[in-house]
Amino acid sequence: MPMLDSFLVDHVKMPSPALRVAKHVKTPKGDIITVYDVRFAKPNKEIIDEKAMHTLEHLFAGFMRDNLKNYEIIDISPMGCRTGFYMSVIGEPKDEEVISAWRESMQNILDTDTIPEANIYQCGSCYMHSLKGAKKVASYILSKNIEIMDNEKLALNPKNISNKCEVDISKVKILGI
Ligand code: ZN
Repeated sequence: MPMLDSFLVDHVKMPSPALRVAKHVKTPKGDIITVYDVRFAKPNKEIIDEKAMHTLEHLFAGFMRDNLKNYEIIDISPMGCRTGFYMSVIGEPKDEEVISAWRESMQNILDTDTIPEANIYQCGSCYMHSLKGAKKVASYILSKNIEIMDNEKLALNPKNISNKCEVDISKVKILGI
């Protein structure tokens, strides 16, 4: 199996909330697609509650499109580890532009009273939502400084690590409950 880019960054050193350019992809026609790691929670120390995460997904995807208006967002998808999202964008927005759109989106979440597309026709688990939880995560992000991650500083040599998960889950903070 090929080693994916995200497995070459040290999640222990990763700050949060923080933004990282995960990679640039050049299409056959020469367009640049930027993939961002939009990290909300500190890996292995924090995790977003599953309902809050799902509601964040519905809201964040829409608000980021409104707020990063000079660029076409291809996709925003939650990470399976529930510590953040991947966002693919056509072009190369500046980190500051993305962070400012991210903060604006968190404010939009605090200001909304509806979860879009949370029905049986448009969502695969429309019963698994929490607007209250999403708002808690949004205000948590707004209370913090969003850092910019440096891939070189986070570089990981996978040959030097053991494949063990040594985490005391009683100490993992659940965000959004
Ligand atoms: Zn859904």
